[in-house]
Amino acid sequence: MRLVMMGPPGAGKGTQGELLARSLGIPRHSTGDILRDALCDGTVLGIAAHRYMDEGELVPDDVILGIIGEALDAPGSRDGFLLDGFPRTVPQAKGLARILEDRGLALDAVVDLAVPDEEIVARLSARGRSDDSLETIQRRLEVYRSQTEPVLGWYADSEVPVLSVEGVGDIQEIHRHIVERLGR
Ligand code: AMP
Repeated sequence: MRLVMMGPPGAGKGTQGELLARSLGIPRHSTGDILRDALCDGTVLGIAAHRYMDEGELVPDDVILGIIGEALDAPGSRDGFLLDGFPRTVPQAKGLARILEDRGLALDAVVDLAVPDEEIVARLSARGRSDDSLETIQRRLEVYRSQTEPVLGWYADSEVPVLSVEGVGDIQEIHRHIVERLGR
């Protein structure tokens, strides 16, 4: 399957993405993880991305599309993949559509994890990552509402199934709901 996992910051995309990728036997590509690894390794990409990440802003689309193009060309991605934290803007979604079209591929579904704002702020405040200060959390939520939420509408218009799943509750139960909604 070729899937996109969406949802606000702190919705549990990483946790659910890992569970789902494992149960479907497909690789998971998280742009946030790739950027954090690049920062750890001190690469040009990591250094360039750092200030955006620290301020809760989005890394430019062309940089992100370069990362995704590479990840999707890896041999392990040929038979399916799960994208986590990407696309976060409509231009990224359009870029992904072009990348897939060039390869004769298409997405099977977008999974949208729905979590209320109060729950997100509580979860992120407890997580303690360097980009989880209250100010940055608020900014990431604003960026999510203004730039990422419209991606869901874009997919609906493009006739890619958008499966909205409640992201609050027991982790395994949420996972089961997602698998059910995918018809697996
Ligand atoms: P995440 O781990 O998905 O919450 O991502 C952490 C940070 O990495 C975000 O706040 C952005 O600064 C950056 N980032 C991750 N994925 C993307 C993306 N698809 N587009 C732009 N910036 C991204």
